[in-house]
Amino acid sequence: MSNSTTSCRLRRGLMTQSVIGPGDRDLGIAYAKAGRRNRAEEMISKFDPVRELNSMRRCTHTYFRRYMLIETVLLAALIIGPFMPVLSVPAQSAAEFDIVLANGRVMDPESNLDAVRNIGIRAGKIAAISARPLRGRTVVDVKGLVVAPGFIDLHSHGQDDENYRYKARDGVTTALELEVGVSPVAAWYAQRDGKSLINFGATVGHIPAKMAVMKDTGAFLPRDNAINRLSTPDEVRQITDLIKQGLDEGALGIGFGINYVPTTTRAEVFDLFAVAAERGVANYVHVRHGGATEPGSGVGAVQEVLSDAAATGASLHIVHITSVCLRQTATCLSLIEGAAKRGVDVTTEAYPYTATQTRLESAIYNDGWQESLGITFKDLQWVATGERLTAETFARYRKEGGSVIGHSIPEEISRLAAANPRVMVASDGLIENRQGHPRGAGTFARVLGVYVREQKALSLMDAIRKMTLLPAQRLEKAVPSMRAKGRIKVGADADLAIFDPAIVIDRATFEQPAQYSEGIRHVLVGGIFVVRDEKIVEGVKPGKAVRRPLRDQKRLLEQLFFGQSQNVAQKRLLQKSTSGNEVSTETR
Ligand SMILES: [Zn+2]
Repeated sequence: MSNSTTSCRLRRGLMTQSVIGPGDRDLGIAYAKAGRRNRAEEMISKFDPVRELNSMRRCTHTYFRRYMLIETVLLAALIIGPFMPVLSVPAQSAAEFDIVLANGRVMDPESNLDAVRNIGIRAGKIAAISARPLRGRTVVDVKGLVVAPGFIDLHSHGQDDENYRYKARDGVTTALELEVGVSPVAAWYAQRDGKSLINFGATVGHIPAKMAVMKDTGAFLPRDNAINRLSTPDEVRQITDLIKQGLDEGALGIGFGINYVPTTTRAEVFDLFAVAAERGVANYVHVRHGGATEPGSGVGAVQEVLSDAAATGASLHIVHITSVCLRQTATCLSLIEGAAKRGVDVTTEAYPYTATQTRLESAIYNDGWQESLGITFKDLQWVATGERLTAETFARYRKEGGSVIGHSIPEEISRLAAANPRVMVASDGLIENRQGHPRGAGTFARVLGVYVREQKALSLMDAIRKMTLLPAQRLEKAVPSMRAKGRIKVGADADLAIFDPAIVIDRATFEQPAQYSEGIRHVLVGGIFVVRDEKIVEGVKPGKAVRRPLRDQKRLLEQLFFGQSQNVAQKRLLQKSTSGNEVSTETR
């Protein structure tokens, strides 16, 4: 390849990734040259090598000269910028922004800022947070409203346009399928790229990999082979290969629903945790059992994955802790908090409802369910008709297959998890043809309206933190781009939820789940309104893939930072040899 072609390729991102600024890859290189490693990793993790190849055709010398200049100016600004704060102030206040959100009560859970501020948005990012007025091409007065980071839903099974609309109206700007997960991964991302209202992403799922290898006939969840028989050693190898392939394709971690594939051995789970540890990703787990009956309690199931995390060093996120541990939720939370205090990287989440929803034909309703869940037929509600079940309809519908709601979580348990500042808010939601569990539409507004405003079970800032910063932090070690989400600060993605704290409330019910939340006034995804004055903005699809860096991105990062880590290692050696002190061996 000739020199000019190579240069041309290098300029690709500048020309096509964005009409406003240079490409993520080149911006990342510029940040790396300026020594700003976090920003460099974040930008490079967004660059897409496939798009790079497609856009090579458009490379011309005119563009080349134009963007060379931009990169030089940008690099100079990055290097000089931090030393010249005085110069940057008048430049900023005179700037005109794409959008200004004026006079809102800005709440940022990272800095604990809670004050009236103006926010300037430029090129999809938060570009200014100011007590003084800002000039913008569009200025929206949000006086009296809370301006929070957009909500991040770690447990969102509904990954289509119908569901993204309910999510957006509930304040969610990023919806991730982390529990069941997907396989194959690349195709899943390709289906949504450029077509999504909000940001999306997924883990590679143990369940879908197992269903494919064992030829289970279920759809979303297994219904026969993956429930009824053990995987052979060869099948376990194939499942592991599919999971590794999904991680190569940028999956956010490994998803597990052990309860749905109960013949999975403890060794199989342990070995996959070791894969997660090796790849530096977290496991998102619906544990092996629910309820109080021994053997097979929720407490024991939590203990299984905590010990796997401790022994492998893998990170662990336990999903919907209330529906697993039921009346023993306090014990499960103590286990998680105790393990976290002793160095295990473990987190958890809950949805603010007193009922579960899953497939009636799944292993959760195998013999013994009444005893372990502490409920009976009349506590089950058939989603398609809304009717409560009897022994006879239970048997019939289980054979047919379909969604069922189980009224099994006591209200005080739901409140306990909602009030706990460590327990993230995540919906576990799925609406299909306007049917489903109300959590698919109302989870976030319900926490803000019922648990914050009405019951005063937690502060507004704590609630926002459980919906934004904590989920972003859960992911960001493996997914650098999440460092730009879940907070309101200059340079963060302009994913924002703007709501009226005096009226925000869920409207979705078990009888009518397909009801939009109220009081979420505006929602922006990457600086684009997707909800304006409580209405979906039609025809915009600003949602982007949340994905781990692909192999090409990783190689680039290694090239950029190899010299630097060598220097650090050398400095440490020198320090050690000269002082004789113990030096931390922590490296990236
Ligand atoms: Zn689950």
